[in-house]
Amino acid sequence: MKRILFLIVAASAFLSYACSQPLQTPTEKTGFTQPANYEQIRQFCEEAALLHDQLELDIFGQSAEGRDLLVIKAKNPKVSDSETLRVLFFAQQHGNEQASKEGSLLLIRDLAEGKYDHWLQRMEIWIVPQVNPDGGEENRRANSMNLDLNRDHVVMQAPETRALHALFRGFMPHVSIDVHEYQPYRQAWSNYGGYKQFDVQVGVTTNINIDQTIQQYSLNQVLDHIERHLTDRGFSFHNYLVGPPPSEGITRHSTVDINDGRQSFGILQTMSFIYEGINGRDGFAENLAHRSQGQLEAKLALMNYMYENHHEVVSMVNKAREMMISGKMPETVAIRTGYFPGEEPLELPLKSSATGMDTIVIVDNYHPLVKPLLEVRRPMGYVLPAHDKKLIEWLDLHQIQYKNDLPSGVSVYACEAIERSQTPYAVKKVLSINQQDYVYVPVNQLHGNFLVLTLEPLSELSIARLPLFSYLLDEYSMYPIHRVD
Ligand SMILES: [Zn+2]
Repeated sequence: MKRILFLIVAASAFLSYACSQPLQTPTEKTGFTQPANYEQIRQFCEEAALLHDQLELDIFGQSAEGRDLLVIKAKNPKVSDSETLRVLFFAQQHGNEQASKEGSLLLIRDLAEGKYDHWLQRMEIWIVPQVNPDGGEENRRANSMNLDLNRDHVVMQAPETRALHALFRGFMPHVSIDVHEYQPYRQAWSNYGGYKQFDVQVGVTTNINIDQTIQQYSLNQVLDHIERHLTDRGFSFHNYLVGPPPSEGITRHSTVDINDGRQSFGILQTMSFIYEGINGRDGFAENLAHRSQGQLEAKLALMNYMYENHHEVVSMVNKAREMMISGKMPETVAIRTGYFPGEEPLELPLKSSATGMDTIVIVDNYHPLVKPLLEVRRPMGYVLPAHDKKLIEWLDLHQIQYKNDLPSGVSVYACEAIERSQTPYAVKKVLSINQQDYVYVPVNQLHGNFLVLTLEPLSELSIARLPLFSYLLDEYSMYPIHRVD
């Protein structure tokens, strides 16, 4: 009894203290000299959830070293779910990108202080401050299994990636934001004579099979708004650029691969973004206050936009998902694509590494467009060998639906892929199979495009090109996954 009483007294003392003092993140308390470690993050999230009755701290899995993975959920229970825009931020898949997490903690702070209660009238917001706590503790990119989590979203070998996807599927956000930092101070750029100095780069999805309405809207409406918000507040912005110094190769936007956080959710018809804030010269604490503030402002910009346009975004994403599930989709899927030049060269702002002055470089070798190089007709579904435990586990991890029976009146065709480089589908061979040896995976489901991209053996994104599944091409006498039509 005494103990309970003590706890009540302690809690109310804490609450009255908390009410009088503004909530500070652990890093703020150090004057942004030291990024928060895992224990501090956990304590801070507990404090934040105590402060606001519409904030909840939840655990959605464990890291490879057994640390609880934390998510803050901000929701007004009085607002109906069908009207609500759901937003998921997830930060620090890469442990050496500290400010990606710090910006998320600042956002949690603001939510806990009730600064954005009006958002919760229209939106439900989940924030994962740290997907990779094991890497974060060591300021290391990979997790403790030496896996790059942001290259693990198709096969999902890491417990962190698996937990993140399970969290996503339980929430089904309309908008997701994968939060990172980029390192501009590389030797190649210094040799080139200048480097990028954008406080924040934001990228949209680039795989052209993702709903084009969502893609164009993200690019033209949302990015514009984020750019204006940031520049008004003294932070520089660019649409996320990838590539070596312009003298050494093409400059483009981010990969078409669906193996990363942005695109793996994008391919499920999500309005998906990647944030790339500028990292410190030391890849750790340098310039931490400015980096964290830039990350926070980029998040506020997006949330303000979503608050104003929530109906439009909810209906756009819902429609794209319904079309995928009901199969009202383009007849073909682009399984190989290339990066192509646009009409204009890129005017790239850089900072001179010699003088520190701002300069503009004209990049002729700019390839902003993605176009199909090889398309296949979208089949009705695929059959996969039922005895192949790795494949079945993979379907389960992605929560892909499959059944034991084939629909009646369909034919099964071999996917011709004897040589990896061979021009495909010149021949279509009809197979007679024993149904009980296979599971049937219909393409009319949320993972429709994901399935075609990963199961077609000649796709540039085929699972068979990944080490875990290379046996599909190497060990079977014939590629064991077949098209059904
Ligand atoms: Zn990263």
